[in-house]
Amino acid sequence: MEQQVIELDGAIGGGQVLRSALSLSMVTGQAFRIKQIRARRSRPGLLRQHLTAVMAAAEVCGARIAGAELGSQELRFEPGAIRSGDYRFAIGTAGSCTLVLQTLLPALLQAPGTSRVRISGGTHNPLAPPVDFLTRSWLPLMRRMGAGIELDLLRHGFVPAGGGEIDVTVQPSQLTPLDLCERGALLSQQALALTAGLAPSVAERELNQVAKRLRWAAETLHPITLDPARGPGNVLLLEYVFEQVTEVFSAFGQVLLRAEKVADTAINQATDWLRSDAAVAEHLADQLLLPMALAGGGSFTTPRMTEHLHSNIAVIERFLPVTIECSEEGPERLRVEVRNGR
Ligand code: ATP
Repeated sequence: MEQQVIELDGAIGGGQVLRSALSLSMVTGQAFRIKQIRARRSRPGLLRQHLTAVMAAAEVCGARIAGAELGSQELRFEPGAIRSGDYRFAIGTAGSCTLVLQTLLPALLQAPGTSRVRISGGTHNPLAPPVDFLTRSWLPLMRRMGAGIELDLLRHGFVPAGGGEIDVTVQPSQLTPLDLCERGALLSQQALALTAGLAPSVAERELNQVAKRLRWAAETLHPITLDPARGPGNVLLLEYVFEQVTEVFSAFGQVLLRAEKVADTAINQATDWLRSDAAVAEHLADQLLLPMALAGGGSFTTPRMTEHLHSNIAVIERFLPVTIECSEEGPERLRVEVRNGR
């Protein structure tokens, strides 16, 4: 009997709706058709990063696809069997390597053998998880859920030049539920100001602003100068290590944006989360949901509902027999619980 194709409306969110659908289609074997991909974005349809994710997903599971072209707002994806292997994907622009990787990981965790994946493109992009966010925050939680994943950053790639690369090894693993409702006690905190091909004063000014507003001691402030050939590029990372979770907030330098303003962006995100009583901030929340759904259970607290969280819940519930419940436990504490069964 032919399986029903899952129909999705891409206009409920951005690229993440498509990427989550690809991940879920690969692991469940269910075909899907999506319309209005990124319809409400200023450049709608598939950009290079999204197209690379589609092509990479198709390669990993031998999928039959239609509509995989730049700018396309419709795609049909019929997955085959997941294959382990030695994969290389090039985005060709500064599009985010980490978003392409996150699309493939659920399938590679279910592959018959160990896989190695190299992805080139952007490694430190605004509006995507910087590699440091994955290595310091998201991957440790994935490992706690049982995932065997190692990630090496081979070269930094910033917008607009790109040219970065990551090398990832994935062992087949069964994900197990994780409950992450409290942060626990603060263990340490640090700020890293990365610059490539820019004046040293950029990192100094960002770190001075962190010292001034957060009152952090000098030994927690680290300017890091990268190979100028990787530039121009600048990112400020604020890392908070709590007993149960490490959070990383980031902000990117831009032409005509004062270094103090860059620092303020990261500081404001961090203080918003710290003021709330929630275990994970906005980005970790939408990136933990799919692994928890695949594990068949889990829970976390986050300050509030976001478009990404909302659209991700909608996509996950179309593919998996799970129930995702959100309940407000306080003005800035939303509890999200994933349970097996409908
Ligand atoms: P679009 O342009 O359609 O919004 P996109 O493919 O660039 O699409 P989104 O759908 O917005 O991406 O998804 C971006 C993902 O990156 C989300 O999971 C979001 O949580 C994550 N993300 C964005 N900024 C950060 C950040 N600073 N740190 C960690 N994760 C981030």
